[in-house]
Amino acid sequence: MAGLEHGRDLGEAILALAAANDISCAWVNAIGAVSCARISAYRQAERRYLELELKEPLELVSCLGNISLRDKKPFLHAHVVLGREDGSLSGGHLCPGTPVFAGECCLFELAGGVPERIFDSVTGLGLWPRRKPGGE
Ligand code: ZN
Repeated sequence: MAGLEHGRDLGEAILALAAANDISCAWVNAIGAVSCARISAYRQAERRYLELELKEPLELVSCLGNISLRDKKPFLHAHVVLGREDGSLSGGHLCPGTPVFAGECCLFELAGGVPERIFDSVTGLGLWPRRKPGGE
């Protein structure tokens, strides 16, 4: 666990913390504040992400996600809940363009092998392979 660098992109800061600790498979948990944010939602029918830009300082109420591999490199998949001064919330898939104002991040390194994301033709997403019950 560590503080996140002011001004650094939230996703980059989390991946840098993982790299500094030689972690390539983890559960991610962070709280703090961001200066502004880019989030997205997956429009399932069209198989594409719709991005939303939030141009205001926001509380990082919750950032949850994981680090695994995509194209052989550590890849962060994280979702955020962001709060305004009036208590209203926005949330979605974390995108680049979300600079940290202040943050605290915990990485929980996971055992059992590092899953590698593969393209799933049903959803159009890069997903972890499914394991068969009782199988490897
Ligand atoms: Zn997502």
